[in-house]
Amino acid sequence: MSRVLVVGAGPVGAVCALALQQQGVAAHVLEAQPADTRGDSRTLALAHGSRLILERLGVWDRLQGVTPITRIHVSQRGGLGMARLSADEMGVPALGYVLPYAELAAVLKQALDDADILVEYGVAANRIESGADAASLHAADGRVLVGPLVVVADGGRGGHSQSAHAAPKPRFERDYDQAAVVCDVATEVPHGNQAFERFTPEGPAALLPKEDGYALVWTASRAEAQRIAALPDAEFLDALYRHFGGRRGRFLHAGPRKTFPLRLSYAGSEAGGRVVRIGNAAQTLHPVAGQGFNIGLRDAWELASLAGDTPTGEIGSAAMLAAYARGRRADVIGGLGFTDFLVRVFSNDVGPLHHARGLGLLALEAFPPLKTFVARRMMFGARG
Ligand SMILES: Cc1cc2nc3c(=O)[nH]c(=O)nc-3n(C[C@H](O)[C@H](O)[C@H](O)COP(=O)(O)OP(=O)(O)OC[C@H]3O[C@@H](n4cnc5c(N)ncnc54)[C@H](O)[C@@H]3O)c2cc1C
Repeated sequence: MSRVLVVGAGPVGAVCALALQQQGVAAHVLEAQPADTRGDSRTLALAHGSRLILERLGVWDRLQGVTPITRIHVSQRGGLGMARLSADEMGVPALGYVLPYAELAAVLKQALDDADILVEYGVAANRIESGADAASLHAADGRVLVGPLVVVADGGRGGHSQSAHAAPKPRFERDYDQAAVVCDVATEVPHGNQAFERFTPEGPAALLPKEDGYALVWTASRAEAQRIAALPDAEFLDALYRHFGGRRGRFLHAGPRKTFPLRLSYAGSEAGGRVVRIGNAAQTLHPVAGQGFNIGLRDAWELASLAGDTPTGEIGSAAMLAAYARGRRADVIGGLGFTDFLVRVFSNDVGPLHHARGLGLLALEAFPPLKTFVARRMMFGARG
């Protein structure tokens, strides 16, 4: 049987290849970047459901730098109401986990090597040709690989610059005109595994416990984000204190700042002609509720599970890809809608909404079933 071709060995492509292998389906992965230069300084927030996926693949226990989030404090600046979510209340060890992208990338690379999965680093896919019985993948080194299915996990336009496959025009797109400033920060008071999500009219800001400090994701208008990121350290720390308040005491130190633009883009899984798009290649979300990366891992897991349940000759068929697209719709659209709702309702200064938000937070705090609903959506997606 020819192998399923996977474009991109980012977390989503790597998890897909490992899960396919576990299902008895061989994969051949092309990764544009060389093996030793992958991963950057971004921080990922993993939901509890993603931990379960990584556990089933035997990857979880190899991760060293994972920080559990056991409590989340949600508030809005200058307004009524706040809500607290806790792992104890939900009966889980943690609501989520924080870890460096580079570490996950390194551990997944090792797992791919150990599983003897064919991965070619430094080879980009230039073009994909769909077909009725097979798809052809044109590699940058001139080879043409043929397989029953090509899984595009290239991170889409939000990921890296080389796109495997002229990305389809998004079916839905929203530019929030916001950018995120991200960096590591140290606070006077230790984090105690508590995360903070603070909504402000300029955009949400989050502090995620990461090792012995915090990872900061501070969203603002694009121009303001550039200005904030360029501030000298002392001014940056003061501005952060004014923005976030003093729940963790003073901010003592900030690492190098990076910014990235925020938008919502839904291209969809395409799922036809023996090609399917997963992870950021299919959808890019605002990071407010930490949904995007986790939806991508579920894409990879569900696709591989379905391939395992499909007779070998039917892998990549129109029927299999239609079943995949159907199966993923509720989770993906639910995640997009939930995220978009949070950004649009909380990122403004309209008076009545300000009070409604306060009431919403009070209700979340006071009404356990609502709290459970929100926490489970964040942990498991639509199937929570
Ligand atoms: C700048 C930035 C910052 C982010 N920060 C956060 C954050 O703080 N927290 C968070 O939870 N999420 C964050 N995200 C989102 C998160 O990174 C993504 O959800 C996650 O990386 C998606 O994984 P992926 O495997 O789909 O794509 P990626 O991680 O982008 O991986 C795609 C892989 O495909 C490879 N590739 C691309 N084109 C080709 C080609 N033509 N041929 C072969 N290989 C190719 C790339 O080299 C890469 O290794 C951020 C995203 C960006 C762009």
